[in-house]
Amino acid sequence: MDGGTKNQSLKHFIAGQWIDAAGGATFEVLNPLDDSHYAYAAKGTGDDIVKAVAAAKAAFTSYKETTPTERERWLLRIAEIMEARQKDLVDCLIDEIGSPVKKAMFEFTKGLTMVRAAAGLCRNVRGETIPSDRPGTFSMSIREPLGVVAVITPFNVPLIKTTRLVANALAVGNTAVHLPSEMAPHLSLIFAEIVAEAGIPDGVYNVVTGMGAEIGDDLTSHKDIDFLTFTGSTVVGQHINEICAKNKTPNTLELGGKSPTIILADADLDKVMPLAARSVFMFAGQACIASSRFYVERPLYDEFVKRFSMIIGKLGMGDLRDPNTVIAPVISPRQRERIRNHIDDARAKGANVIGGKWEGNRCQPTLLTDVSEDMNVCRTETFGPVTAIYPIESYEEGLEKANDTEYGLSSAIFTKDIDKAFHFVRNSNAGMCHINGPTIHDEAHVPFGGNGESGVGREGTDADMEAMTELKWVTVQL
Ligand code: NAD
Repeated sequence: MDGGTKNQSLKHFIAGQWIDAAGGATFEVLNPLDDSHYAYAAKGTGDDIVKAVAAAKAAFTSYKETTPTERERWLLRIAEIMEARQKDLVDCLIDEIGSPVKKAMFEFTKGLTMVRAAAGLCRNVRGETIPSDRPGTFSMSIREPLGVVAVITPFNVPLIKTTRLVANALAVGNTAVHLPSEMAPHLSLIFAEIVAEAGIPDGVYNVVTGMGAEIGDDLTSHKDIDFLTFTGSTVVGQHINEICAKNKTPNTLELGGKSPTIILADADLDKVMPLAARSVFMFAGQACIASSRFYVERPLYDEFVKRFSMIIGKLGMGDLRDPNTVIAPVISPRQRERIRNHIDDARAKGANVIGGKWEGNRCQPTLLTDVSEDMNVCRTETFGPVTAIYPIESYEEGLEKANDTEYGLSSAIFTKDIDKAFHFVRNSNAGMCHINGPTIHDEAHVPFGGNGESGVGREGTDADMEAMTELKWVTVQL
């Protein structure tokens, strides 16, 4: 176990070896709660990316020949070791990225499910038989792994994204090079320790830590990358998309969101309110599928705002290891600045701000009413504990406003009217749509992803299996 601890420098994991960055440089990772030192990590260079891709490419030759039984056993062993190392993973989620323990436990449990679901995928990499017009010909398709998968992940749900994408890539016979967020390198290195202990062959999973803005292009544009899966901001995703298009590298992009929730007049607020709070304030709104726009039909509007204001005053902002704590610190100065800007700009332009004060690096849960088009918060992702509430006069107005965005990730509607609910499902522009449930919802086997500025493609067991393998047409002439 040599991924390092918070008192040592964290190293890359390449070809089964723990190595320093080429050139030996490191960077500091800070605990977002108080910006105290968390760790130093290897500051990767283009040379490190080259080494990691070469290791993954070399390992692919034999890994693609492994049987479903072998891969299934390795993945289930990873899940067992994750359980044994629950404390390390949860402590890391708390201290490296500032997760309240409840969110850390949620993520740990979800991560386990991701790995176990991937184990089930190993036996489902299937093609089909195809009728042929040529007499005596058997015609079929077989699915083959692509080769080296580049995995680039964000800071906010590092365990969910690492487990899902790496486990699915490995389940179908690919090898991987992972560039985790520079704000969450340790989590992926603990996962690498677990992968190594599970007995997965050297070079099948490789982790390079470092600044995405400096070495991301070395990975994205590497000629030996056969597939790329990126989760992160829309602006970086757009840049990656352009490189992938030029190199014809197939990819999935899971990007930002501005997810809407519609609440119609027949909804039961007793049931809606706890779900509404969860759909924004989990991990202080640092969730791509957080509901940052509520459209409430006029008869319920005042009551909804009143009840929501009362709930947010009770959301815990205490010790991150206290299970009652909900509100997390905001990860970085850049993100804090963006949240401050959205709140201050909205206030200056006439919005009513409920909450919005800061305690250290934590921003109080914040509700905005009287939000207008000219405010920065109106259309741009905030990625913080901030949401806007708008009155609507009808379902039709709610649908139109919900769709009036460049994003298209998750959407929700609360109503007892099944016709309107299903009309919403058919007409919402989002990739994921929930009736009487929050926009924050994810499971290992669902097609997870968005449209427009929210991304391209879907992830999840079946979707990743299709994206990370290739069909080959085969005939046999008798
Ligand atoms: P980010 O875009 O800043 O960083 C994401 C990753 O990209 C990091 O690993 C970073 O190092 C890397 N990166 C940066 N520049 C790069 C480049 N030029 N080439 C390659 N990689 C590069 O995002 P973040 O702040 O870590 O995460 C927040 C964003 O992620 C939000 O917009 C959020 O909505 C989105 N997100 C989306 C989903 C989803 O499934 N749709 C899930 C979680 C987060």
